Amino acid sequence: MVNKMHYVIIGNSASAVGCIEGIRSVDTEGKITVISDENHHVYGRPLISYMLMGKLKKEMIWYRPYSFYSDNKVDTLFGKKVIGVDAVQKEVRVDDGTTIKYDKLLIATGSMPFVPPFTGLEDVHSKYSFMTLDDALNLEKVLDKDKKVLIMGAGLIGLKCAEGILSRVKSVTVVDLADRILPSILDNEGSEIVKNYLERKGIKFYLSDTAEKFTADAASLKSGVKIPFDILVLAVGVRPNTELARTAGATIERGVLTDISNRTSVDDVYAAGDCAVSHDISSGTNRVIAIMPNAYIGGHNAGVNMAGGNETFKNAIPMNSIGFFGLHIITVGSYEGDTYIERTAKTYKKIFYKDNRMKGYIIIGDVARSGIYTSLVRNEIPLDTIDFDLICKQPQLMAFAAKDRDKLLNSGWKSGMIEHE
Ligand SMILES: Cc1cc2nc3c(=O)[nH]c(=O)nc-3n(C[C@H](O)[C@H](O)[C@H](O)COP(=O)(O)OP(=O)(O)OC[C@H]3O[C@@H](n4cnc5c(N)ncnc54)[C@H](O)[C@@H]3O)c2cc1C
Repeated sequence: MVNKMHYVIIGNSASAVGCIEGIRSVDTEGKITVISDENHHVYGRPLISYMLMGKLKKEMIWYRPYSFYSDNKVDTLFGKKVIGVDAVQKEVRVDDGTTIKYDKLLIATGSMPFVPPFTGLEDVHSKYSFMTLDDALNLEKVLDKDKKVLIMGAGLIGLKCAEGILSRVKSVTVVDLADRILPSILDNEGSEIVKNYLERKGIKFYLSDTAEKFTADAASLKSGVKIPFDILVLAVGVRPNTELARTAGATIERGVLTDISNRTSVDDVYAAGDCAVSHDISSGTNRVIAIMPNAYIGGHNAGVNMAGGNETFKNAIPMNSIGFFGLHIITVGSYEGDTYIERTAKTYKKIFYKDNRMKGYIIIGDVARSGIYTSLVRNEIPLDTIDFDLICKQPQLMAFAAKDRDKLLNSGWKSGMIEHE
Protein backbone atom coordinates (compact mmCIF):
# COMPACT_ATOMS: atom_id res chain seq x y z
CA MET A 1 0.00 0.00 0.00
CA VAL A 2 1.29 3.47 -0.91
CA ASN A 3 1.64 5.77 2.11
CA LYS A 4 -0.54 8.85 1.96
CA MET A 5 1.23 12.21 1.82
CA HIS A 6 0.91 14.46 4.84
CA TYR A 7 0.57 18.13 3.92
CA VAL A 8 0.94 20.61 6.78
CA ILE A 9 -0.13 24.23 6.37
CA ILE A 10 0.82 26.91 8.90
CA GLY A 11 -1.74 29.75 8.81
CA ASN A 12 -5.43 29.62 7.99
CA SER A 13 -6.22 32.45 5.63
CA ALA A 14 -6.35 33.13 1.88
CA SER A 15 -3.10 31.28 1.08
CA ALA A 16 -4.11 28.28 3.16
CA VAL A 17 -7.47 28.04 1.38
CA GLY A 18 -5.75 28.33 -2.00
CA CYS A 19 -3.33 25.61 -0.94
CA ILE A 20 -6.05 23.22 0.23
CA GLU A 21 -7.97 23.70 -3.02
CA GLY A 22 -4.75 23.30 -5.01
CA ILE A 23 -3.80 20.07 -3.21
CA ARG A 24 -7.27 18.61 -3.62
CA SER A 25 -7.28 19.37 -7.36
CA VAL A 26 -4.42 16.83 -7.63
CA ASP A 27 -4.55 14.57 -4.56
CA THR A 28 -7.93 13.68 -3.10
CA GLU A 29 -6.60 11.27 -0.48
CA GLY A 30 -3.51 12.79 1.17
CA LYS A 31 -3.79 13.98 4.77
CA ILE A 32 -3.96 17.77 5.23
CA THR A 33 -3.43 19.49 8.58
CA VAL A 34 -3.95 23.24 9.02
CA ILE A 35 -2.51 24.91 12.11
CA SER A 36 -3.43 28.47 13.07
CA ASP A 37 -3.02 30.55 16.18
CA GLU A 38 -6.31 32.30 15.37
CA ASN A 39 -9.19 30.32 16.83
CA HIS A 40 -11.69 31.02 14.04
CA HIS A 41 -13.12 29.50 10.90
CA VAL A 42 -11.36 31.05 7.89
CA TYR A 43 -12.58 34.61 7.28
CA GLY A 44 -11.99 37.41 4.77
CA ARG A 45 -9.65 39.78 6.58
CA PRO A 46 -10.76 42.78 4.45
CA LEU A 47 -14.30 42.31 5.77
CA ILE A 48 -13.60 43.00 9.44
CA SER A 49 -14.27 46.72 8.96
CA TYR A 50 -17.69 45.99 7.42
CA MET A 51 -18.50 43.89 10.46
CA LEU A 52 -17.73 46.88 12.71
CA MET A 53 -19.85 49.12 10.49
CA GLY A 54 -22.72 46.73 11.09
CA LYS A 55 -22.98 45.93 7.35
CA LEU A 56 -22.05 42.28 7.84
CA LYS A 57 -22.66 39.85 10.69
CA LYS A 58 -19.72 37.76 11.88
CA GLU A 59 -21.06 34.67 10.08
CA MET A 60 -21.05 36.61 6.80
CA ILE A 61 -17.34 37.27 6.73
CA TRP A 62 -16.38 33.58 6.43
CA TYR A 63 -14.19 33.09 3.35
CA ARG A 64 -15.48 29.56 2.79
CA PRO A 65 -18.58 27.72 4.09
CA TYR A 66 -18.51 25.94 7.46
CA SER A 67 -18.24 22.58 5.75
CA PHE A 68 -15.04 23.60 3.94
CA TYR A 69 -12.66 21.60 6.12
CA SER A 70 -14.77 18.46 6.30
CA ASP A 71 -15.58 18.67 2.57
CA ASN A 72 -11.84 18.74 1.86
CA LYS A 73 -10.91 16.20 4.54
CA VAL A 74 -8.73 18.69 6.43
CA ASP A 75 -7.72 18.31 10.08
CA THR A 76 -7.65 21.66 11.86
CA LEU A 77 -5.60 22.73 14.84
CA PHE A 78 -6.90 26.21 15.66
CA GLY A 79 -5.73 28.31 18.59
CA LYS A 80 -2.28 26.65 18.37
CA LYS A 81 0.95 28.39 17.47
CA VAL A 82 3.79 26.74 15.58
CA ILE A 83 7.02 27.65 17.37
CA GLY A 84 9.61 25.98 15.15
CA VAL A 85 10.22 24.10 11.93
CA ASP A 86 12.86 21.38 11.69
CA ALA A 87 13.38 20.91 7.98
CA VAL A 88 15.85 18.05 8.50
CA GLN A 89 13.49 15.93 10.60
CA LYS A 90 10.57 17.34 8.54
CA GLU A 91 8.48 18.27 11.54
CA VAL A 92 6.90 21.35 13.10
CA ARG A 93 6.82 22.07 16.83
CA VAL A 94 3.55 23.35 18.27
CA ASP A 95 3.20 25.45 21.43
CA ASP A 96 1.17 22.66 23.12
CA GLY A 97 4.34 20.55 23.21
CA THR A 98 3.48 18.30 20.27
CA THR A 99 5.44 17.81 17.08
CA ILE A 100 3.85 17.07 13.73
CA LYS A 101 5.63 15.34 10.87
CA TYR A 102 5.13 16.59 7.33
CA ASP A 103 5.98 15.43 3.85
CA LYS A 104 5.27 18.86 2.34
CA LEU A 105 4.92 22.08 4.31
CA LEU A 106 3.34 25.42 3.39
CA ILE A 107 4.31 28.46 5.43
CA ALA A 108 1.40 30.89 5.08
CA THR A 109 1.97 32.97 8.19
CA GLY A 110 1.01 36.33 6.66
CA SER A 111 2.14 39.55 8.27
CA MET A 112 2.13 41.14 11.69
CA PRO A 113 1.72 44.73 12.85
CA PHE A 114 4.85 46.78 13.14
CA VAL A 115 4.88 49.28 16.01
CA PRO A 116 7.69 51.84 16.18
CA PRO A 117 9.05 52.64 19.66
CA PHE A 118 6.77 55.62 20.45
CA THR A 119 7.67 57.37 23.71
CA GLY A 120 5.03 56.79 26.39
CA LEU A 121 3.10 54.13 24.47
CA GLU A 122 3.30 51.83 27.49
CA ASP A 123 1.10 54.35 29.41
CA VAL A 124 -1.76 53.97 26.91
CA HIS A 125 -4.15 51.28 28.17
CA SER A 126 -6.80 51.48 25.46
CA LYS A 127 -4.71 50.58 22.40
CA TYR A 128 -5.52 48.21 19.54
CA SER A 129 -4.27 46.77 16.28
CA PHE A 130 -6.60 46.18 13.34
CA MET A 131 -5.38 43.05 11.61
CA THR A 132 -7.52 40.18 12.85
CA LEU A 133 -11.10 39.27 13.68
CA ASP A 134 -10.15 39.23 17.37
CA ASP A 135 -8.70 42.75 17.01
CA ALA A 136 -12.01 43.89 15.54
CA LEU A 137 -14.08 42.11 18.22
CA ASN A 138 -11.91 43.61 20.98
CA LEU A 139 -12.17 47.09 19.48
CA GLU A 140 -15.92 46.71 19.11
CA LYS A 141 -16.27 46.13 22.87
CA VAL A 142 -14.96 49.64 23.64
CA LEU A 143 -16.67 51.62 20.85
CA ASP A 144 -19.00 54.25 22.22
CA LYS A 145 -20.67 57.42 20.91
CA ASP A 146 -18.75 59.48 23.49
CA LYS A 147 -15.30 58.21 22.58
CA LYS A 148 -12.61 59.94 20.57
CA VAL A 149 -10.41 57.65 18.46
CA LEU A 150 -6.89 58.37 17.27
CA ILE A 151 -5.57 56.16 14.47
CA MET A 152 -1.83 56.17 13.78
CA GLY A 153 -1.41 55.34 10.10
CA ALA A 154 -3.27 56.48 6.97
CA GLY A 155 -2.61 53.31 4.97
CA LEU A 156 -5.22 50.78 3.93
CA ILE A 157 -5.59 49.21 7.38
CA GLY A 158 -5.84 52.52 9.28
CA LEU A 159 -8.39 53.94 6.88
CA LYS A 160 -10.44 50.74 6.77
CA CYS A 161 -10.58 50.92 10.54
CA ALA A 162 -11.62 54.59 10.36
CA GLU A 163 -14.44 53.72 7.97
CA GLY A 164 -15.58 50.82 10.14
CA ILE A 165 -15.90 52.80 13.37
CA LEU A 166 -16.73 56.38 12.29
CA SER A 167 -20.50 56.10 12.84
CA ARG A 168 -20.01 54.45 16.24
CA VAL A 169 -17.75 56.97 17.97
CA LYS A 170 -17.57 60.70 18.67
CA SER A 171 -14.60 61.45 16.42
CA VAL A 172 -11.87 59.80 14.36
CA THR A 173 -8.50 61.48 13.81
CA VAL A 174 -5.81 59.94 11.62
CA VAL A 175 -2.11 60.82 11.82
CA ASP A 176 0.56 59.76 9.32
CA LEU A 177 4.19 60.60 8.79
CA ALA A 178 3.69 60.56 5.01
CA ASP A 179 2.45 63.69 3.27
CA ARG A 180 -0.53 61.88 1.76
CA ILE A 181 -2.99 59.16 2.62
CA LEU A 182 -2.69 55.64 1.12
CA PRO A 183 0.86 56.59 0.13
CA SER A 184 1.83 53.16 -1.16
CA ILE A 185 -0.99 52.96 -3.71
CA LEU A 186 -2.05 56.51 -4.63
CA ASP A 187 -0.30 59.43 -6.30
CA ASN A 188 -0.62 62.96 -4.86
CA GLU A 189 -3.71 63.89 -6.82
CA GLY A 190 -5.57 60.63 -6.16
CA SER A 191 -4.67 60.81 -2.51
CA GLU A 192 -6.03 64.36 -2.25
CA ILE A 193 -9.33 63.30 -3.86
CA VAL A 194 -9.82 60.44 -1.40
CA LYS A 195 -8.71 62.57 1.57
CA ASN A 196 -11.20 65.32 0.71
CA TYR A 197 -13.93 62.70 0.42
CA LEU A 198 -13.08 61.18 3.80
CA GLU A 199 -12.88 64.63 5.40
CA ARG A 200 -16.38 65.37 4.14
CA LYS A 201 -17.49 62.17 5.88
CA GLY A 202 -16.00 63.52 9.13
CA ILE A 203 -12.51 62.02 9.44
CA LYS A 204 -9.78 64.47 10.48
CA PHE A 205 -6.21 64.12 9.19
CA TYR A 206 -2.79 65.28 10.35
CA LEU A 207 -0.24 64.40 7.66
CA SER A 208 3.56 64.84 7.56
CA ASP A 209 3.33 64.48 11.31
CA THR A 210 3.81 61.86 14.00
CA ALA A 211 3.45 61.32 17.73
CA GLU A 212 6.43 62.57 19.66
CA LYS A 213 5.01 61.40 22.95
CA PHE A 214 1.97 59.60 24.30
CA THR A 215 0.33 59.96 27.70
CA ALA A 216 -2.52 57.68 28.79
CA ASP A 217 -5.10 59.72 26.87
CA ALA A 218 -3.31 62.14 24.53
CA ALA A 219 -0.72 62.28 21.79
CA SER A 220 1.65 65.23 21.39
CA LEU A 221 2.53 65.52 17.74
CA LYS A 222 5.83 66.74 16.36
CA SER A 223 4.03 69.80 14.96
CA GLY A 224 3.05 70.78 18.50
CA VAL A 225 -0.60 69.77 18.13
CA LYS A 226 -2.01 67.81 21.08
CA ILE A 227 -4.70 65.22 20.31
CA PRO A 228 -6.75 63.85 23.20
CA PHE A 229 -8.18 60.35 22.68
CA ASP A 230 -10.04 57.58 24.47
CA ILE A 231 -9.00 54.81 22.06
CA LEU A 232 -5.74 54.48 20.14
CA VAL A 233 -5.45 52.29 17.04
CA LEU A 234 -1.94 51.48 15.82
CA ALA A 235 -1.91 50.89 12.07
CA VAL A 236 1.52 52.22 11.21
CA GLY A 237 2.63 49.29 9.11
CA VAL A 238 3.02 45.55 8.78
CA ARG A 239 5.99 43.20 8.49
CA PRO A 240 6.03 39.79 6.80
CA ASN A 241 5.93 37.03 9.39
CA THR A 242 9.13 35.26 8.33
CA GLU A 243 10.41 33.89 11.64
CA LEU A 244 9.28 30.29 11.10
CA ALA A 245 10.67 30.19 7.59
CA ARG A 246 13.93 31.46 9.02
CA THR A 247 13.99 28.63 11.59
CA ALA A 248 13.46 26.22 8.70
CA GLY A 249 16.57 27.64 7.02
CA ALA A 250 14.76 29.35 4.12
CA THR A 251 16.27 32.35 2.36
CA ILE A 252 14.59 35.58 3.45
CA GLU A 253 14.63 38.77 1.37
CA ARG A 254 12.19 41.07 3.15
CA GLY A 255 9.76 38.16 2.81
CA VAL A 256 10.38 34.46 2.27
CA LEU A 257 11.98 33.99 -1.14
CA THR A 258 10.07 31.61 -3.43
CA ASP A 259 10.31 30.49 -7.03
CA ILE A 260 7.49 30.43 -9.60
CA SER A 261 6.26 27.16 -8.04
CA ASN A 262 6.13 28.84 -4.59
CA ARG A 263 8.99 26.63 -3.36
CA THR A 264 11.36 28.14 -0.81
CA SER A 265 15.10 27.43 -0.81
CA VAL A 266 14.44 24.47 1.55
CA ASP A 267 13.33 21.08 0.18
CA ASP A 268 9.61 20.37 0.55
CA VAL A 269 8.93 23.74 2.20
CA TYR A 270 6.72 26.18 0.30
CA ALA A 271 5.57 29.70 1.17
CA ALA A 272 2.81 31.98 -0.11
CA GLY A 273 0.90 35.15 0.67
CA ASP A 274 1.89 38.14 2.77
CA CYS A 275 4.90 36.36 4.31
CA ALA A 276 6.49 35.67 0.91
CA VAL A 277 8.18 37.60 -1.86
CA SER A 278 6.65 37.48 -5.34
CA HIS A 279 8.10 38.63 -8.61
CA ASP A 280 6.08 41.70 -9.59
CA ILE A 281 6.06 41.71 -13.39
CA SER A 282 4.79 45.28 -13.57
CA SER A 283 7.92 46.67 -11.91
CA GLY A 284 10.28 43.75 -12.58
CA THR A 285 11.17 43.56 -8.89
CA ASN A 286 10.87 40.99 -6.13
CA ARG A 287 8.56 42.29 -3.44
CA VAL A 288 5.91 41.35 -0.93
CA ILE A 289 2.53 41.85 -2.60
CA ALA A 290 0.25 41.84 0.44
CA ILE A 291 -3.17 41.36 -1.12
CA MET A 292 -5.84 38.65 -1.12
CA PRO A 293 -5.60 37.59 -4.80
CA ASN A 294 -1.85 37.14 -4.56
CA ALA A 295 -2.23 35.10 -1.37
CA TYR A 296 -4.89 32.84 -2.84
CA ILE A 297 -3.16 32.30 -6.21
CA GLY A 298 0.23 31.73 -4.55
CA GLY A 299 -1.33 29.27 -2.10
CA HIS A 300 -3.11 27.41 -4.90
CA ASN A 301 0.08 27.26 -6.91
CA ALA A 302 1.97 25.87 -3.91
CA GLY A 303 -0.77 23.31 -3.23
CA VAL A 304 -0.78 21.93 -6.77
CA ASN A 305 3.03 21.60 -6.74
CA MET A 306 3.13 20.11 -3.23
CA ALA A 307 0.76 17.40 -4.47
CA GLY A 308 2.96 16.58 -7.46
CA GLY A 309 1.10 18.66 -10.05
CA ASN A 310 2.64 21.27 -12.24
CA GLU A 311 1.51 24.90 -11.99
CA THR A 312 3.42 28.16 -12.11
CA PHE A 313 2.59 31.66 -10.93
CA LYS A 314 4.56 33.98 -13.15
CA ASN A 315 2.46 37.09 -13.40
CA ALA A 316 2.05 38.50 -9.91
CA ILE A 317 1.10 42.16 -9.79
CA PRO A 318 0.00 44.46 -6.99
CA MET A 319 -3.70 45.28 -7.28
CA ASN A 320 -6.03 46.85 -4.80
CA SER A 321 -9.76 47.15 -5.06
CA ILE A 322 -11.05 49.15 -2.12
CA GLY A 323 -14.08 51.19 -1.23
CA PHE A 324 -14.54 53.88 1.38
CA PHE A 325 -18.12 54.95 2.12
CA GLY A 326 -19.13 54.06 -1.45
CA LEU A 327 -16.14 55.63 -3.19
CA HIS A 328 -14.45 52.95 -5.31
CA ILE A 329 -10.72 52.82 -5.87
CA ILE A 330 -8.75 50.40 -8.02
CA THR A 331 -4.99 50.53 -8.26
CA VAL A 332 -2.90 48.05 -10.22
CA GLY A 333 0.73 47.54 -11.13
CA SER A 334 3.60 50.01 -10.99
CA TYR A 335 3.54 53.72 -11.66
CA GLU A 336 6.30 54.25 -14.21
CA GLY A 337 6.56 55.63 -17.71
CA ASP A 338 4.25 57.98 -19.58
CA THR A 339 0.77 58.74 -18.34
CA TYR A 340 -2.73 59.17 -19.67
CA ILE A 341 -4.83 61.20 -17.22
CA GLU A 342 -8.56 61.80 -17.24
CA ARG A 343 -10.47 63.89 -14.74
CA THR A 344 -14.25 64.10 -14.72
CA ALA A 345 -16.69 65.19 -12.03
CA LYS A 346 -17.04 61.56 -10.96
CA THR A 347 -13.77 59.88 -11.84
CA TYR A 348 -10.00 60.28 -11.70
CA LYS A 349 -8.12 57.93 -13.99
CA LYS A 350 -4.37 57.68 -14.51
CA ILE A 351 -2.80 55.06 -16.74
CA PHE A 352 0.95 54.39 -16.80
CA TYR A 353 2.62 52.90 -19.87
CA LYS A 354 6.18 52.20 -20.97
CA ASP A 355 8.00 50.08 -23.56
CA ASN A 356 4.77 49.25 -25.43
CA ARG A 357 3.12 47.84 -22.25
CA MET A 358 0.61 49.16 -19.75
CA LYS A 359 2.45 49.16 -16.41
CA GLY A 360 -0.29 50.16 -14.02
CA TYR A 361 -3.27 52.38 -13.35
CA ILE A 362 -5.25 54.24 -10.70
CA ILE A 363 -9.00 54.75 -10.98
CA ILE A 364 -11.06 56.53 -8.35
CA GLY A 365 -14.81 56.69 -8.97
CA ASP A 366 -16.23 54.77 -11.92
CA VAL A 367 -14.25 51.53 -11.92
CA ALA A 368 -16.54 49.64 -14.33
CA ARG A 369 -14.71 47.36 -16.76
CA SER A 370 -11.33 48.16 -15.23
CA GLY A 371 -10.63 44.41 -15.30
CA ILE A 372 -9.67 44.98 -18.94
CA TYR A 373 -6.87 47.29 -17.81
CA THR A 374 -5.79 44.74 -15.18
CA SER A 375 -5.60 42.12 -17.88
CA LEU A 376 -3.43 44.39 -20.04
CA VAL A 377 -0.98 44.85 -17.17
CA ARG A 378 -0.94 41.25 -15.94
CA ASN A 379 -0.62 39.72 -19.36
CA GLU A 380 1.85 42.31 -20.64
CA ILE A 381 -0.19 42.71 -23.80
CA PRO A 382 1.76 44.70 -26.43
CA LEU A 383 -0.04 48.02 -26.82
CA ASP A 384 0.56 48.11 -30.57
CA THR A 385 -1.75 45.07 -30.91
CA ILE A 386 -4.73 47.02 -29.53
CA ASP A 387 -6.41 50.38 -30.02
CA PHE A 388 -4.73 51.89 -26.98
CA ASP A 389 -6.15 55.42 -27.42
CA LEU A 390 -9.66 54.00 -27.45
CA ILE A 391 -8.96 51.74 -24.48
CA CYS A 392 -7.59 54.62 -22.40
CA LYS A 393 -10.80 56.56 -22.88
CA GLN A 394 -13.14 53.61 -22.60
CA PRO A 395 -12.05 50.11 -21.55
CA GLN A 396 -13.77 47.89 -24.10
CA LEU A 397 -13.17 44.62 -25.82
CA MET A 398 -13.59 46.11 -29.31
CA ALA A 399 -10.19 47.70 -28.90
CA PHE A 400 -8.55 44.25 -28.87
CA ALA A 401 -7.60 42.19 -31.90
CA ALA A 402 -10.25 39.53 -32.61
CA LYS A 403 -8.15 36.58 -31.37
CA ASP A 404 -7.42 38.33 -28.06
CA ARG A 405 -11.07 39.34 -27.71
CA ASP A 406 -12.18 35.71 -27.87
CA LYS A 407 -9.57 34.73 -25.33
CA LEU A 408 -10.56 37.52 -22.99
CA LEU A 409 -14.24 36.66 -23.28
CA ASN A 410 -13.66 32.96 -22.76
CA SER A 411 -11.29 33.12 -19.87
CA GLY A 412 -12.65 35.63 -17.44
CA TRP A 413 -10.89 38.95 -18.03
CA LYS A 414 -12.32 40.25 -14.78
CA SER A 415 -9.66 38.42 -12.82
CA GLY A 416 -6.94 39.65 -15.15
CA MET A 417 -5.70 36.09 -15.43
CA ILE A 418 -5.38 35.79 -19.20
CA GLU A 419 -2.41 34.07 -20.77
CA HIS A 420 -1.04 36.05 -23.73
CA GLU A 421 1.22 34.34 -26.22
C1 LIG B 1 -8.04 45.48 7.73
C2 LIG B 1 -7.49 44.85 6.48
C3 LIG B 1 -8.05 45.17 5.25
C4 LIG B 1 -7.56 44.58 4.09
N1 LIG B 1 -8.16 44.90 2.91
C5 LIG B 1 -7.75 44.29 1.77
C6 LIG B 1 -8.41 44.53 0.53
O1 LIG B 1 -9.34 45.32 0.45
N2 LIG B 1 -7.99 43.85 -0.57
C7 LIG B 1 -6.95 42.96 -0.51
O2 LIG B 1 -6.62 42.35 -1.53
N3 LIG B 1 -6.29 42.73 0.64
C8 LIG B 1 -6.66 43.36 1.78
N4 LIG B 1 -6.00 43.12 2.96
C9 LIG B 1 -4.82 42.22 2.93
C10 LIG B 1 -5.25 40.76 2.94
O3 LIG B 1 -6.11 40.52 4.00
C11 LIG B 1 -4.01 39.88 3.01
O4 LIG B 1 -3.23 40.11 1.85
C12 LIG B 1 -4.35 38.39 3.09
O5 LIG B 1 -5.17 38.11 4.19
C13 LIG B 1 -3.06 37.59 3.19
O6 LIG B 1 -3.37 36.24 3.36
P1 LIG B 1 -2.28 35.22 3.93
O7 LIG B 1 -2.87 33.87 3.76
O8 LIG B 1 -0.97 35.50 3.34
O9 LIG B 1 -2.08 35.56 5.46
P2 LIG B 1 -2.91 36.23 6.62
O10 LIG B 1 -4.27 36.62 6.19
O11 LIG B 1 -2.05 37.28 7.21
O12 LIG B 1 -3.05 35.04 7.66
C14 LIG B 1 -1.91 34.42 8.23
C15 LIG B 1 -2.37 33.54 9.37
O13 LIG B 1 -1.28 32.79 9.89
C16 LIG B 1 -1.38 32.77 11.30
N5 LIG B 1 -0.05 32.51 11.88
C17 LIG B 1 1.04 33.31 11.79
N6 LIG B 1 2.08 32.74 12.45
C18 LIG B 1 1.64 31.57 12.96
C19 LIG B 1 2.24 30.55 13.74
N7 LIG B 1 3.51 30.61 14.13
N8 LIG B 1 1.49 29.49 14.09
C20 LIG B 1 0.19 29.40 13.71
N9 LIG B 1 -0.44 30.34 12.97
C21 LIG B 1 0.28 31.41 12.60
C22 LIG B 1 -1.89 34.17 11.61
O14 LIG B 1 -2.43 34.27 12.90
C23 LIG B 1 -2.95 34.34 10.54
O15 LIG B 1 -4.15 33.77 10.93
C24 LIG B 1 -6.47 43.68 4.15
C25 LIG B 1 -5.89 43.37 5.39
C26 LIG B 1 -6.38 43.94 6.54
C27 LIG B 1 -5.76 43.60 7.87
